[in-house]
Amino acid sequence: MTLQVLAQVSLKPFNSFGIDVRAQWFAEARSDADVREALAYATAQSLPLLVIGGGSNLLLTQDIQALVLRMATQGVRVLQDDGVNVVVEAEAGEAWHPFVVWTLEHGFCGLENLSLIPGTVGAAPMQNIGAYGVEIKDVFAGLTALDRHTGELRDFSLQECNFAYRDSLFKHETGRWLILRVRFALSRARHLKLDYGPVQQRLAGQGITEATPSDVSRAICSIRREKLPDPAELGNAGSFFKNPLVSHVLAAELKAQYPDLVAYPQADGQMKLAAGWLIDKAGWKGFRDGDAGVHKLQALVLVNYGAATGHDIANLALRIQRDIAERFKVDLEMEPNQY
Ligand code: FAD
Ligand code: NAP
Repeated sequence: MTLQVLAQVSLKPFNSFGIDVRAQWFAEARSDADVREALAYATAQSLPLLVIGGGSNLLLTQDIQALVLRMATQGVRVLQDDGVNVVVEAEAGEAWHPFVVWTLEHGFCGLENLSLIPGTVGAAPMQNIGAYGVEIKDVFAGLTALDRHTGELRDFSLQECNFAYRDSLFKHETGRWLILRVRFALSRARHLKLDYGPVQQRLAGQGITEATPSDVSRAICSIRREKLPDPAELGNAGSFFKNPLVSHVLAAELKAQYPDLVAYPQADGQMKLAAGWLIDKAGWKGFRDGDAGVHKLQALVLVNYGAATGHDIANLALRIQRDIAERFKVDLEMEPNQY
């Protein structure tokens, strides 16, 4: 037995909101064998099992009466390489941003727009992480997951993951699939996506006309560092709400009332509204109640100034949701996973 199971562990260092709740039991998996041992332990003790990665998309509102298993498996490898196109596989416990940097250092293009997203490789498919116009579905080549119901391994193709905006099959079948490793289709050829927000301007401002993937990554890192609070300094889980998808009719009504409304047409005819704009417009930016607050620079990010509980954050979120529904007739859906 290599798995170390510890009792009554504070999860404060293991969630980016910095919320101090306890795990009844806690262990770190460094291999597939550890994962199987943890499953057997949880079954034998009739305990639920909660798998976490970097804890950067969690809102913990109570002590967790379960075995919390933190994925710490390591390993990155090139599976296929035809000189231009490559398939790279990474273990679930690999930290996401260092993995992105590894791909760039090897000359592989594809993940640069997803730079500086906290968390692990294994959690990335959960909500089909996305930023600056790229989602992992755009570079996804497959994943291997353990079916917790049967103990069998299963490979998932792109189609089988049901990826959508901040969504996947895994987010719906919670408690079933434990993602062990993920594969990405990357390329030595440059297919840069620069048409999103301030990326192009940032590169131009640096005098870069022929950007490399690493240039794009650095530009995105610098934009993100300016706008987003660093969880090491101020607890947060990134965007707290998804950008709502609304009908064309509602978007047109809102646009008539608020000409500066930020809205993007979607392929299916719906409109995506910038949730941050709605929350800002409603006057919540910089709001603080005790230690729970709305970030001063980015209204979509809820923050913990130190001693906020998960309930404090959830209550603030509820107040914002009610206000936005009343003002704009728009329902905001929470993005982090609440336990
Ligand atoms: P965790 O928070 O540990 O877990 C998230 C969920 O996945 C939980 O339900 C957990 O049970 C489950 N899970 C974790 N690992 C596994 C596994 N191996 N198998 C099965 N289930 C698993 N997200 C974006 O999409 N785009 C962004 O640009 C972005 N920016 C962010 C910026 C900041 C400052 C922060 C704090 C967060 C940001 N996020 C962003 C959200 C977050 O970083 C991502 O969702 C990330 O993928 C979460 O990874 P994690 O390892 O921390 O997952
Ligand atoms: P931003 O650039 O200020 O844009 C505000 C919103 O408008 C974004 O949420 C984005 O939606 C949308 N948008 C902007 N340009 C767009 C375009 N050309 N086409 C379609 N939609 C567009 O956003 P930001 O807050 O600084 O974040 C920048 C990027 O990082 C965004 O992609 C955002 O999703 C991502 N991010 C995510 C998190 C998280 O926790 N999920 C945290 C921080 C940043 P999209 O979100 O759909 O891209």
